[in-house]
Amino acid sequence: MTTACIALGANLGDPQQQLRQALAALACTPGIVLRQTSRFYRSAALGPAGQPDYCNAVCVVDTSLSADALLTRLQAIENAAGRIRSERWGPRVLDLDLLWMDGVASDTPRLQLPHPQAHLRAFVLVPLADLLPNLEWPGHGRVAALAASIDRDGVVPLND
Ligand code: AMP
Repeated sequence: MTTACIALGANLGDPQQQLRQALAALACTPGIVLRQTSRFYRSAALGPAGQPDYCNAVCVVDTSLSADALLTRLQAIENAAGRIRSERWGPRVLDLDLLWMDGVASDTPRLQLPHPQAHLRAFVLVPLADLLPNLEWPGHGRVAALAASIDRDGVVPLND
């Protein structure tokens, strides 16, 4: 089994419910054991103005799947939630990003690992620091230090 981290986000429909459903879908996937889930956070949307706020979270899984098979499963869960791939940075019913997988690096358009923007995004770092503060983010330092040094004003824990 290999440990991996996944970021979850949604800003259309019922975002908290969609995140709960995505976590349930991950938990019942053969070859995936859901180990930990962060708090849920509200964050301001990046990209086109006027979008609703996001609900974001991060989870840690242990998996016997390859990184490629895990990404395929994440995309199937997005599609089942009604995700329509349209404008970049546009609003979405569910967004699942593979952030990191222990010992795995990839630099293809289909799969970039570690996720190249994760260490720059407060809505990823803050929930990730709930779970794996001591994780050394390749090339950038400990997750707790990255989360402490980023502007996290727009990232607010939700009472779930
Ligand atoms: P997005 O619309 O932001 O969810 O981006 C989806 C696209 O990014 C898909 O074509 C994926 O194959 C690609 N992608 C590249 N690296 C990753 C990653 N680490 N996690 C999720 N999607 C990725």
